[in-house]
Amino acid sequence: MPLETKLTARLIEVFSAIQGEGLNVGTRQLFIRFALCDLRCKFCDSANTWGVPPQCRIERTPGERDFETHLNPVPGSLLLKWVERQNQPGLHDSITLTGGEPLLHAPFLVEFLPLLRQSTQLPIYLETGGHRPEQLAMVLPFLDLVGMDIKLKSVSGEDRGQAHAEFLQFCHQASVEVFVKLIVDRHTDPAELEQAARLVTAVNPQIPVFLQPVTPLKESNPRLLVPAPEQILAWQALMKRTLASVRVVPQTHKMIGQL
Ligand code: SF4
Repeated sequence: MPLETKLTARLIEVFSAIQGEGLNVGTRQLFIRFALCDLRCKFCDSANTWGVPPQCRIERTPGERDFETHLNPVPGSLLLKWVERQNQPGLHDSITLTGGEPLLHAPFLVEFLPLLRQSTQLPIYLETGGHRPEQLAMVLPFLDLVGMDIKLKSVSGEDRGQAHAEFLQFCHQASVEVFVKLIVDRHTDPAELEQAARLVTAVNPQIPVFLQPVTPLKESNPRLLVPAPEQILAWQALMKRTLASVRVVPQTHKMIGQL
């Protein structure tokens, strides 16, 4: 299929793996990981995405980790070919756009996603920091599911309250399925969880919320500690006062050696 766009993508990697977080946990995903992030979360496990590397790595065969390297930026037509090569019949449940922050590439996505959908016939799932509503509005028509973070200042160091509220509202108004992920650690301030619960409830109390205990990064941030069992139980109960679905799910892909 001819690719009309002349835009290019700045990538980290393309690979096939098992989704370890959120509503799609356990499903097989074709991941497109974009470069660049404008946040600096203390728990970030993808600090290699903050800038644009000279090269990206592209898996040739799904799950084989037989990466080849290519120069950044990458023409959209090439990216589409790489995805088509990975898209074996029946294997993937959807395509995950991840990063970094994929919405920093909104002009590219607006042109690329319709072609991606047409070519693969797969649902498109966006993983995002949930803080760029203007860019979200540009790509919402091409998305099937959005997994957005609400950053808790006590854990991430970031505070994007108003932007998160607007972002969630946009998803709801567009009737695009959305869930919210909150990373929690031992220092989480319950008042921030209450605030997040109010934010979600005000849009729709049925929106699923995931509490994700932080995965400790012993080398880079020894202050990140997994919450105590009683903390998790108390926080889930607190949020369930107003929200229909609050699940606690750690990063399962880290437990089974996935990327
Ligand atoms: S938004 Fe994601 S990629 Fe960016 S700093 Fe936070 S955890 Fe890292």
